[in-house]
Amino acid sequence: VSLESELAEVVGAVHVVVDPTMTASYEVDWTRRFSGRCRAVVRPDSTEQVVGVLAACRRHGACVVVQGGNTGLVGGATPAGGEVLLSTTRLRELGPVDEIAGQVTVGAGVTLAAVQAHVRPHGFDVGVDLGSRDSATVGGMVATNAGGERVLRYGPMRAQTLGLEAVLSSGDVLAHMGGLPKENTGYDWVGLLTGSEGTLAVLTAVRLRLVPAPAGRAVALLGFDDTRSAMRALSDLRRAVPDLTAAEGFYAAGLAMVRAHTGLGDPLPGGHAVYLLVERTEPAAAVDPAEPLLAALADADVGAAVVVSEGAACRALWRYREAHAEAISADGIPVKLDVAVPVAVLADFVEGLAPTVQQVAPGARVIVFGHLAEGNLHVNVLDAGDNAVAVTDAVLRSVVARGGSISAEHGVGRAKVEWLGLSRTPAELAAMAAVKRALDPTWMLGPGVLLRPAGTPTRRHGGAKPPRGETLGP
Ligand SMILES: Cc1cc2nc3c(=O)[nH]c(=O)nc-3n(C[C@H](O)[C@H](O)[C@H](O)COP(=O)(O)OP(=O)(O)OC[C@H]3O[C@@H](n4cnc5c(N)ncnc54)[C@H](O)[C@@H]3O)c2cc1C
Repeated sequence: VSLESELAEVVGAVHVVVDPTMTASYEVDWTRRFSGRCRAVVRPDSTEQVVGVLAACRRHGACVVVQGGNTGLVGGATPAGGEVLLSTTRLRELGPVDEIAGQVTVGAGVTLAAVQAHVRPHGFDVGVDLGSRDSATVGGMVATNAGGERVLRYGPMRAQTLGLEAVLSSGDVLAHMGGLPKENTGYDWVGLLTGSEGTLAVLTAVRLRLVPAPAGRAVALLGFDDTRSAMRALSDLRRAVPDLTAAEGFYAAGLAMVRAHTGLGDPLPGGHAVYLLVERTEPAAAVDPAEPLLAALADADVGAAVVVSEGAACRALWRYREAHAEAISADGIPVKLDVAVPVAVLADFVEGLAPTVQQVAPGARVIVFGHLAEGNLHVNVLDAGDNAVAVTDAVLRSVVARGGSISAEHGVGRAKVEWLGLSRTPAELAAMAAVKRALDPTWMLGPGVLLRPAGTPTRRHGGAKPPRGETLGP
C-alpha cells in the first residue's frame, strides 16, 4: 500500500494533497527565499490523526516537515525536497476561557488573531502580539518561541505557555496540560519544546496563560538624530514609565519604503534619522493611559513627539512600524537577519552595519527595524545579489563579536543552520543532538532544520573559518 493511500485512510483522501498546483503555496515561505517540493501535504484534524500520519510516515521511511501559518522567516516550515508536509491548520479547537485561572487551551493550528478574538470578550488578551497575527498559529509561535511587540512587558511565547500536548515521531503523545503555574515534577516539556522548530515533536494543543485586556492604550512616536540619543531616551523612559508595553525602533530609510508602499503621510514633522515608538496600556477605564507618557516626555530630551490614545490613531502609528516587513518584501527578496545585541552596544552595531555589509556586497541596501528594548534588530539586506551567504556571515559574526545572538526571535530554521556554532558551544550542540536522537531517533522531523545531520559537507564561505558544530547527526 502506498504512503499516500495510508495517509488517506487516516485523514480522508480530500486532506492528502498531491496536485502540484494545490501544494505550491505550502512549498514556498513568506519571504520567497526558501522553496522545495514536498511529496504530499497532509491535513490532520485531531491528535489521533497526527499519531496516524506519523505512524504511516514512519512505516514508509518518509520525513515530515510541520507547517502552521507558514509565516516563519527562516525556512523552517519549507520542505527541502520529498518530505511529507504536515499542515496543522485544521487543529482549530478553541477551548472555554478559564476566567478564574486566566487560561485557555487551544489547538496548535489556531491563529493568534482567532485566540485574541476568542479571549477579549472575557476581559483577557494574549501576552504576545505579532504583525503576522492573522496567519501565525499558536503551535508555530510556541515552536519558534515567538517574541514580537510586547516581550518588554509579558515575555516571549515560552512565558505564555503553561502546558502542551505533542506527538513524538514514535507516535507517543506527551500531554501535560494542567496549567499549574507551580509544578516541579522533573523535565519541563514546555521549556524543551518551545523553540524546537518542528524538530522534536508535532505540537497539537497548547495551554496558554492570558493577561488582562487593557482598558486604554497610548502610543508615542518620537524622532531622533541618531541611535545613541534614541537609546538614551528609551532608558530614561523605561525608568519613568516602568509599565511600558512596547518600545520599537525604525529608521528613515525604512519609513520612506513604508510610505511609498502604503501611501501614508509623514508621521512627524521635520524628518528624523531614527524613530522610537513606545506604547503604554492602562487597566483602569477612568485613567488617561497617555498621562504618564506625557509627564515623562515633558522631562525628556526628545526632538519631536506625537502622543495619541484614541484606538484608530494608535493603530495608525503602529502601522508605520508593522508595515516594514511587507514594504521591504514588496521591493525585493531581502536577506533577513533577526539578531540580538546587548542594548549598551546597539548604537555601535547599527553604525557599523552598512560598512560591514557593503564590504562583501557593494551596492546592497540595509534596512533595520526592531524591538529596541531587547536589543532585537531585524536586519534586512536588499540587492545582495549572489552575496547572500557572505552578507549573512559578515553580519552574524559582527553580532557575535559584540556579545549578541544570531537569532533573537525567528529561530534558526534552514537559514542559519550553518552558523549555529557561533551562538552555541560544542558541548551545547552535542547535548542538543543527544536530545534530538532521544526524541526522534531516525531524524524524521524537520530534517535540515536547526541541526544538521552528520555527513553533510561543511560549506566554507567568504574564506572565513567555518562555524563550529556542523556534524551532529544520528
Ligand atoms: C509580517 C510578519 C511579522 C512578523 N513579526 C514577528 C515578530 O514580531 N516576532 C516574531 O517572533 N516573529 C515574527 N514573525 C515570524 C512568524 O510570524 C513567527 O515565527 C511565527 O511564530 C510563526 O508561526 P507559523 O504558524 O506561521 O509557523 P510556520 O511558519 O508554519 O512554522 C515555523 C516553524 O515552526 C514549526 N512548527 C509550526 N507549527 C508547529 C507545530 N504545531 N508543531 C511543531 N512545530 C511546528 C515549523 O516546522 C517551523 O520550523 C513575523 C512574520 C511576518 C510575516
